[in-house]
Amino acid sequence: MERKTPVWDAPPDVVELMGDVSGNELNGWGESGERQPTLVMWANPSKLAHGRVQERMTREFLDHPELSGVLRTDDRHEPEPIAPTALQINPERWLHDLTERAIGGSGENGEGQVELVGVARVRPEWFFEGRSSPLSTIVILGVVMDHAELNTAPEHTSAIEVHKQYNRGTAAARLLADWIRARGYDAIGHGGPGAGPIQMVPAAIAAGLGELGKHGSLINRDYGSSFRLAAVLTDAPIAETSPDSFGVDDFCYGCRVCTDACPPDAIAPDKRLVRGATKWAVDFDRCLPYFAVSYGCGICIAVCPWSKPDAAPRLAEIMTRRLAERAD
Ligand code: SF4
Ligand code: SF4
Repeated sequence: MERKTPVWDAPPDVVELMGDVSGNELNGWGESGERQPTLVMWANPSKLAHGRVQERMTREFLDHPELSGVLRTDDRHEPEPIAPTALQINPERWLHDLTERAIGGSGENGEGQVELVGVARVRPEWFFEGRSSPLSTIVILGVVMDHAELNTAPEHTSAIEVHKQYNRGTAAARLLADWIRARGYDAIGHGGPGAGPIQMVPAAIAAGLGELGKHGSLINRDYGSSFRLAAVLTDAPIAETSPDSFGVDDFCYGCRVCTDACPPDAIAPDKRLVRGATKWAVDFDRCLPYFAVSYGCGICIAVCPWSKPDAAPRLAEIMTRRLAERAD
C-alpha cells in the first residue's frame, strides 16, 4: 500500500555529513553469520563512521536554550567501594530485594526511581565489537516517559522528555550499582543514550521488558514504547527474569502506523536478516539524517498504538487471548 505522505529528503549539508559509509552495512544487514554489533552512534565521534552527524546533533542540543540543560555531557561518577564481605543470600532473594530497591523504594536517596526491572545473563553477542566485561549479569531498568511530551516529536520538547528520562535512568543505574557494591559484589551502572559496552535492547528482551516492534524499539505490555532503558552490569548472583511474549509480532504485521508516520520512510513492512537473525530493523541510513535534524525524532515510538496512555495492557490482553486461541 502506498504511503499517504511524501517522503522527506535530507538536505545537502546532512547528506554530505553522512558520507559514503552505509550504516546498514555496518549494522550487518544481509549477513547470515552471527557477530557482535558495530558501534554506530553515541560514542566518541572521532571513532564513528557517522561521527560528524552526531557532532552536528550535539551542537544543536547545546545551542538550544532549553535542551542544553538536559543533555548529560558529564559522565563522571565515582562508584562506591566494594564491601569486603559478599552478602550470602539466594538468587531469588537477591532479585526480590533488588527489584524492591529499584521500583518500590521510599523515593529517598535514589530509591524507587524506575518503573521496570529485569535480569539476564550476559551473552557475548550483546557486546559491541571490541568491548567486553567480566561481569556476567545485566540488570535492565526501564523508566517511563510522559507520553504527552513524547508525542510532541519531532519538536525539541519531546527531546527534553527523552533526555530527562535518560538522566533519571542513568542516576538510578548508578545508585543501584552502588547498592550492589555495598553488598560485596562488583557492579557498574550505564545509562542512555550512550549505553556503555553493551546493546541494551536484546538484553531487555531476554529479561522480559518487552518484545521488539517494527519500529526497532521495545514494546512493553504496560507502557508500550513510551520508556527508556538503563542497565547495571554485575557479578552478583541475582536470579534471571523470563522473556515476555504477548503478540507484538502479530500486531506489527497487521499495523503500519509507524511505517506511514516515519518522515524519511525508514521503517520497512517486513523483517530483515541482520547478523544471523531475521528481525525488525530500522533503515539507519534513512533514519539518521532526519533524526539528526529533528532533535532525535521519536515519532515512531510516539505514534505506536501501544504507547498511548493505558492502551498497552488492553492490547496485550487481546493479543495474548488470540495467541492462546490459535494454540488450541
Ligand atoms: S526515529 Fe524518526 S526517522 Fe527514525 S525511524 Fe523513527 S520515525 Fe523514522
Ligand atoms: S506502530 Fe504498529 S507496526 Fe509500528 S511498532 Fe507499533 S504496533 Fe508495530
